[in-house]
Amino acid sequence: MKFGGTSVGKPERMYQVADLITRDNESKIVVLSALSGTTNALVGIGDALAKNNKEDAKTQIDKLEAHYHTFIAELVKTPAALAKAKAIVGEHFEFLNIITKISFNEALNKDILAQGELLSTKLFSTYLEEKGIDHYLLPALDFMSIDANDEPQLSAIKTKLSQLLKNHSDKKMFITQGYICRNSKGEVDNLKRGGSDYTASLIAAAIKATVCEIWTDIDGMHNNDPRIVKKTVAIEQLSFDEAAELAYFGAKILHPTCIWPAQHENVPVKLLNTMQPDAAGTVIRDEAGSEGVKAIAAKDGIIAIKIKSSRMLLAYGFLRKIFEVFEKYRTPIDMITTSEVAVSVTIDTDANLAAIVKELEPFGTIEVDKNQTIVSIVGNKIGSSADVLSKLFDTLKPVPVSMVSYGGSPHNISLLVADQYKIQTLQLLNSGLFGLE
Ligand code: ADP
Ligand code: ASP
Ligand code: MG
Repeated sequence: MKFGGTSVGKPERMYQVADLITRDNESKIVVLSALSGTTNALVGIGDALAKNNKEDAKTQIDKLEAHYHTFIAELVKTPAALAKAKAIVGEHFEFLNIITKISFNEALNKDILAQGELLSTKLFSTYLEEKGIDHYLLPALDFMSIDANDEPQLSAIKTKLSQLLKNHSDKKMFITQGYICRNSKGEVDNLKRGGSDYTASLIAAAIKATVCEIWTDIDGMHNNDPRIVKKTVAIEQLSFDEAAELAYFGAKILHPTCIWPAQHENVPVKLLNTMQPDAAGTVIRDEAGSEGVKAIAAKDGIIAIKIKSSRMLLAYGFLRKIFEVFEKYRTPIDMITTSEVAVSVTIDTDANLAAIVKELEPFGTIEVDKNQTIVSIVGNKIGSSADVLSKLFDTLKPVPVSMVSYGGSPHNISLLVADQYKIQTLQLLNSGLFGLE
């Protein structure tokens, strides 16, 4: 059971989490995110220190510490529990204060980012202890690891976690941190923003759990981005592939790559609402359930690169050479379209853009369009449905679409539009494909 930032962001929410995890007597591992707003605040502190702006960092640390003191004053009631909670907050903020005094580097930044999940789990554990709820606090840094390419090491995680669980076989409930892990150098690292979902899926796969429940602030995966369009509805069931496409192409409710571990071990994933625990939510499993379009998601900040070359005409091996450039700079390509004289690809980071463009130049004329959005239409067997395609283009008449990817997968059609058309595209598709406002 994984609980996100808003699900632990207030003392009364933590009480609710305690109720939810004690509703049955099943053995479980509970993964917690940081309190909502904390990771953003820690990012701000790291940024200030990176710019050597120590005063600004100190102001931000003090503000965050005050928030935690208010939080614990309401969370626990007994003097013993409050003293313990104060000591936890004191220890972690002393650490942050020490960091402001030493020279800053990227490894230290990762330590800063880890404080949120360490605090939330220790404070929750203190509350459970006060309530007499038996549990064991499992340090994620003792079993969650990534390799030199920042990829989670599922088999090492399996081995370490099962040993830890064996050592505490008298316990039925374990609490652990989402997001944080150790890297190949043994340093504290993380699974990128939103990574607690990934932690939950990795643990579920490692222990072959009966279910992986992701508890959040909405009743499941909706058909469209509820932050952008007015009327959205929860989807009952998604296949692993459909959910992975939606998460990767922008549905913020799930970390972009968190589906594969659960899919690997065929563990169903449920998306549930902490505030409405009895709502059905969404189940993600090996079967799609119904056919047709299920949801739309958008990923913005995309860069389109077009390589135009007459030499591509009748040439084989041309695409390989182009892809090798992206491989060299470890930059994944999201979308690709080709014609006889041009190839267009999209990437989601400008980290190595200048170097990539430079290396592509010998192949032809390069055009770069920044500020693009991929809109993905996801569903079961839509990649072969002419009906979906005609509806799609009918609906999107007012929007200039610059790329279309169709047929690559049976459950995805992707379009590229400029960022300024993102909202309009999502709104038009909401009425055109779902009959919703
Ligand atoms: P948590 O802190 O629990 O991890 P997140 O904020 O990461 O929660 O994810 C939940 C949020 O995702 C929702 O509040 C909602 O605004 C947003 N969201 C974006 N797209 C979707 C979608 N298609 N379905 C449901 N929620 C979505
Ligand atoms: N706390 C981390 C973040 O805000 C991880 C997570 O919430 O999933 O990104
Ligand atoms: Mg999240």
